[in-house]
Amino acid sequence: MIRINENFLKLQDSYLFSTINKKVSEYQEKNPKADIIRLGIGDVTRPIPAVVIEAIERAADEMKDSATFRGYGPEQGYDFLKEKIVQNDYKDLGINTNEVFISDGAKCDTGNIVELFDTDAKVAITDPVYPVYLDSNVMYGRAGKFNEDNGQYEKIIYMNATEKNNFTPLPEELEKVPDLIYICSPNNPTGVAMNAENLKKWVDFAKQHKSIILFDAAYEAFIEEDGIPHSIYEIEGAKKVAIEFKSYSKTAGFTGLRCAYCVVPNEIEIESSKWKVSLNKLWNRRQTTKFNGVSYIIQRGAEATYTEEGKKAIRDNIFYYKENAKIIKHGLEKIEIKAYGGINSPYIWLKTPNNMKSWEYFDLLLEKYNIVGTPGVGFGPSGEGYFRLTAFGDREKTFEAMERLRL
Ligand code: PLP
Repeated sequence: MIRINENFLKLQDSYLFSTINKKVSEYQEKNPKADIIRLGIGDVTRPIPAVVIEAIERAADEMKDSATFRGYGPEQGYDFLKEKIVQNDYKDLGINTNEVFISDGAKCDTGNIVELFDTDAKVAITDPVYPVYLDSNVMYGRAGKFNEDNGQYEKIIYMNATEKNNFTPLPEELEKVPDLIYICSPNNPTGVAMNAENLKKWVDFAKQHKSIILFDAAYEAFIEEDGIPHSIYEIEGAKKVAIEFKSYSKTAGFTGLRCAYCVVPNEIEIESSKWKVSLNKLWNRRQTTKFNGVSYIIQRGAEATYTEEGKKAIRDNIFYYKENAKIIKHGLEKIEIKAYGGINSPYIWLKTPNNMKSWEYFDLLLEKYNIVGTPGVGFGPSGEGYFRLTAFGDREKTFEAMERLRL
């Protein structure tokens, strides 16, 4: 008799976005005239740069001619895109094209990579966290039992990211040694980015304990301050212990087109019962077996993001979102709400006023000001008392939302 993979039953239902949608629809039904401003979304709103669309159109045209038609492509991605990545994103960092794997999303990559490691590997995630890191390990059977009392899984190592540690957990705060360490910088949801000094502490720790860092840099393009690494490979020794994930989603508006990549350095070798194994070879084997690659057409679109016109369009988009972030941050400061992030990231993480619970503040914003955000507790128990606003909305609406809060 076939039985289900019981690990899936350990997943906690995520009611976050469905509850938000339900509350907003109910409110809108009762108040049809209410002009609701949505600052909760994690999706981009700016259109895709014209140069990208033109490249996609040209690539699509190639498909109708037998001389230029392409069928199955390399699962790891086409060299034309990998070369652009190496030249532009890893200039002087010594990354080779065979270390770059093109994929359909940083979500898929951060979720799939868990397959490469021992089921008993001890996993450290931040609390609050981008939920994919946690849930993919739960599905894989690494999390143990869920404890209803504290909202945590018994085998997961939680690293609290709160005001106390500037939302930057460090190795010295750990009580147990993890084998896999997730670091997301700039961070979703807190919007805080890790500086080189702190990142080096993690790289040194991973080297010392033979752990692996899974470094999610999906929001790297939003970094503006000096001293914040754009890639973990800027840190000496990281190529021995870190896998890096990047995405075109939030930079070039690829959330619907789908293209991302991860870097698995040749230098990473990990123990098995038999011999040391190259993680790069293992990931290659995994991808060639289970993944068909990103479509040629979309990879040509991603390639166009590296043209001068593409780079400028991306800079303009990021500038637009970051202006929104500034408007939100200044708006919150004016009404004396403490807010973090929003400088090197599109996310603003605010401390709810008067110690309100995250969901109480959600209701207040919706009902009194007709503004929608995301309750921090939805990202983990340590997010209680915090609230996430995003800069991905429309400029005028963002401005208006802050005006409403001032009144
Ligand atoms: N990583 C983080 C931290 C994210 O916030 C997101 C999307 O919201 C992703 C990865 C997913 O990126 P992609 O669209 O490439 O799957």
